[in-house]
Amino acid sequence: MSTTTTSYKCFIGGEWVDAASGETMEVINPATGETIAAVPRCGAADVDRAVSAAKEALPAWLDTTPKERSELLHKLADVLEENAEELAQLESRNVGKPLMASRDEMPFSADNLRFFAGAARHLEGQSAGEYIAGYTSMIRREPLGIVGGICPWNYPLMMAVWKMGPALAAGNVQILKPSEQTPLSLLRFAQLAQDVLPAGVLSVVTGDGVPVGERLVAHPDVRLVSLTGDVSTGKAIARNAADTLKRVHLELGGKAPMVVFDDADPEAVAAGIRLGGYWNSGQDCTAGSRVIAGPKIYDRLLEALVPQVESLKVGDPFESDEIEMGSVISQAQQERILGFLERAKGATVLTGGGTNGDRGFFVQPTVVVDVKQTDEIVQNEVFGPVVTVQRFADDDQAIAWANDVRYGLAASVWTRDVGRAMNAVRRLQYGTVWVNDHLLPITSEMPHGGYKQSGYGKDMSIYSMEEYTQIKHAAFKID
Ligand code: NAD
Repeated sequence: MSTTTTSYKCFIGGEWVDAASGETMEVINPATGETIAAVPRCGAADVDRAVSAAKEALPAWLDTTPKERSELLHKLADVLEENAEELAQLESRNVGKPLMASRDEMPFSADNLRFFAGAARHLEGQSAGEYIAGYTSMIRREPLGIVGGICPWNYPLMMAVWKMGPALAAGNVQILKPSEQTPLSLLRFAQLAQDVLPAGVLSVVTGDGVPVGERLVAHPDVRLVSLTGDVSTGKAIARNAADTLKRVHLELGGKAPMVVFDDADPEAVAAGIRLGGYWNSGQDCTAGSRVIAGPKIYDRLLEALVPQVESLKVGDPFESDEIEMGSVISQAQQERILGFLERAKGATVLTGGGTNGDRGFFVQPTVVVDVKQTDEIVQNEVFGPVVTVQRFADDDQAIAWANDVRYGLAASVWTRDVGRAMNAVRRLQYGTVWVNDHLLPITSEMPHGGYKQSGYGKDMSIYSMEEYTQIKHAAFKID
């Protein structure tokens, strides 16, 4: 299937170039199945070219003051805001996500750049002092040099911005690789950024994980690779990075529990699941994908939940501004999600479970009950609009089930009892725990990152500056 396609180039060293091989790859609109663009299918040689350009750009960038970098980051935020509607439309067309969602991501991304514009001027180190008689010691916090960022397809521009802000604020130069499925918004943003940043400070290389991402990880002059992606990709990157002892920052998958105690308000929880479980078609690493509900609230919660989920307006984002849930990212992802449902023997699908016609790659918002803690659909990230609901016997079982997965990115607790909430927050092995909400309380000032196999390192907040800086001890003989 094909309509008009736009041809893009990638952005290396301040220039728009084709892949060295001349090869291209197609980009699809998953809500229609149509080809919408072609981008360069880069290879290792293109990454090497971007690293050479980054090396050239680095000395002058290292000489910039925090104030100068801060001003440039504010300008990047300005161009993002000024072009927010165009970028949101492009994002929706490439990801199949509702316009209301893409429109939400743009001001948040701009805010993230502004946060790091501030952070550039507020880097901390221990105070200087005389720790050995006759010497003054001081701490310098320095950038790493050339850093790589490898991005996923679910929030293409926003995830790239989460990497760009702290990297550039700290004084690094950066090479970004968008997902092969969703490169368009980052390429367009790079066009907008090219008049703001010096050549080579930011490059965007398109192509597949192997070879483009793999070469970024292997290149000896790249000092850090930050990945947002699947757990298996994180493991491959951590293994490959060992050869150059490269620093690795991993924001990986999740399987967020929503622990609902009996004293919670079922209507409020159902509304929370409607958003937290199905936002971005559930293709969110923090999606509330497994509800663990108390024995007394369980039935009332399902009664409230099913109509809530059935009320979601599903369709092609460009049909109407009212669409709340779009497609999933690809046919392969659609088949993967439906595969989880087919294999969930003994489970009951209360609503959903199918596709939405034969145009585009849709999965209906789905609620599944009668699942066991050991079931694949409870243990593994489905990354689609599928929420399981389990009934727990007591608080200890609720927390045990919540923690009994390999992931540890985000969780939520629903109760009116402060002590119960505090205790659950303490015991949940997750990098983020929300109380009486899910997904919405996310802000540039607060860290986002995983426990366990959801990875290590933080995005957003001042803590992410730790990933992108290194500490030097300088000692001065003073007598
Ligand atoms: P993915 O792991 O398939 O791909 C992510 C990126 O890694 C892509 O750009 C891909 O080309 C690249 N890649 C693949 N193999 C590689 C390799 N061997 N070496 C280097 N790079 C390689 O993930 P995806 O399917 O694009 O995204 C979905 C996943 O991302 C989900 O698991 C989701 O939970 C996770 N995610 C996590 C967060 C977070 O903050 N923790 C946020 C969003 C998405």
